[in-house]
Amino acid sequence: DLVYIGRALLSVSDKTGLLDLARALHDRGIELISTGGTANALRADGMPVRDVSEITGFPEMMDGRVKTLHPNVHGGLLALRDDDEHLLAMAAHGIEPIDLLVVNLYPFEATVARGGSYEDCIENIDIGGPAMIRAAAKNHRFVNVVTDVQDYPALLAELDAHDGATGLAFRQKLALTAYARTAAYDSAVSGWMAQTLGEVPRYRSFAGTLSSHLRYGENPHQAAAFYTDGSARPGVATARQWQGKELSYNNINDTDAAFELVAEFPADDTPAVAIIKHANPCGVATGATLAEAYARAYDCDRTSAFGGIVALNRPLDGPTAEKIAEIFTEVVIAPGADDAAKSVFAAKKNLRLLTTLGLPDPRAPGLAVRQVSGGFLVQDKDTAEVPELKVVTKRQPTEAEMADALIAWKVAKHVKSNAIVYVKDAATVGIGAGQMSRVDSTRIAARKAEDAAEAMGLPAPLTKGCAAASDAFFPFADGVEVLAAVGATCVIQPGGSVRDAEVIEAADRLGLAMIFTGQRHFRH
Ligand code: 5GP
Repeated sequence: DLVYIGRALLSVSDKTGLLDLARALHDRGIELISTGGTANALRADGMPVRDVSEITGFPEMMDGRVKTLHPNVHGGLLALRDDDEHLLAMAAHGIEPIDLLVVNLYPFEATVARGGSYEDCIENIDIGGPAMIRAAAKNHRFVNVVTDVQDYPALLAELDAHDGATGLAFRQKLALTAYARTAAYDSAVSGWMAQTLGEVPRYRSFAGTLSSHLRYGENPHQAAAFYTDGSARPGVATARQWQGKELSYNNINDTDAAFELVAEFPADDTPAVAIIKHANPCGVATGATLAEAYARAYDCDRTSAFGGIVALNRPLDGPTAEKIAEIFTEVVIAPGADDAAKSVFAAKKNLRLLTTLGLPDPRAPGLAVRQVSGGFLVQDKDTAEVPELKVVTKRQPTEAEMADALIAWKVAKHVKSNAIVYVKDAATVGIGAGQMSRVDSTRIAARKAEDAAEAMGLPAPLTKGCAAASDAFFPFADGVEVLAAVGATCVIQPGGSVRDAEVIEAADRLGLAMIFTGQRHFRH
């Protein structure tokens, strides 16, 4: 099953590594054929190369839309070398076999990521490239197809190992990559069109590029890998890691949750910090300085913060790094880190430090995907801004209560349902997450506030005079009664229950101010 390569067609948009590869092929006596730009690059380097137009008998035309779409190219890729009829057809039509195809495609994904215009994106849809890739991959019994610069060294190593030939297993692997590549490419195109047109496409697949093999998944017996979608959004996929062990599956998931939450606090506003455990925040706070914000976030739940993921809304500085380094922390992610911070962390070998170029825009549209048995669900990301606030109680919230309520609301959006969040002086003081009953979340948040007070040596929990957010409406008045008992004086919630009147009446009776957002933030 060895295939010796006599002729190669090289047609690449990304010319990285091209000259080295071409020279290595040429040195093995392989004839090179190329399309315009690729041929120019090779000739400029003094390499002999045949133009594809000589093979097709047609000039490259229509702005390059038609270059290689011709039977002399596709016949050369698709012909079965052990089939008499195929061989006769080749002889009859002067088709020469092509044994190696090296193609990488027009940069469609990059054009979308950089916000290219509609026309620009359309012009960057490669037609001839995928056609050749699919043809060569189908005929992998005889043909090698390389679609990724990172596979050049493997190809040369394979040729070295087999005296200038490749084995079937190698070509099968190349073909697999080739089909995965064209599938991802077309997913990117159809996904972009669906988004541009605001349509729900009949077929849906998602494009991704392997970023890393992970040691394991959520648990050690689950294999896992991380794929990136090429988006430029600042976050865990595009961050630079400065130090520490490789990120784990859970690290990546939690770091994403942490950074998306802290991005709700604009960098030009107050310093803000979020600490995440198991995808839920265990402390979120703002402060006069980043170090203060961290200390206040930490105080919300010191026990859970141990081994947590810390996200900051501005570049990490030395004093904050010192505070973070006092306890075991898995990951810190921030839009930058200064030298002082980096040298503090240098002593903490296992701590992973990630920096991004800015914060993600929490309002930027996107899709959220979740798998179910037999399919998957796709929805818009929860990017909604607080629409209209309506005070429904006799008492109006004070300015301070309103400010805390809005922070509690932002945080609640990032807490698994049922979510209850208590905020006092711009810091969470109790978070109840992921309960099946809203009253339970309310109680758990209160108990956490008591634990926090005890840990800090305070006589009473900080919930006295706090604002409380609920991610969905209170179906009964009992939840509001628990909130009042805990000391909350202001409640923010969507409203919309059939028992709203009872809930409002209870709030009035208990002297609470209550705000309706008219919007729910379930998160499962
Ligand atoms: P070059 O820089 O060599 O002029 O062009 C290389 C690019 O052209 C590669 O990305 C390849 O996939 C693409 N390509 C090759 N043949 C065709 C074709 O017939 N039509 C289109 N649209 N693109 C092609």
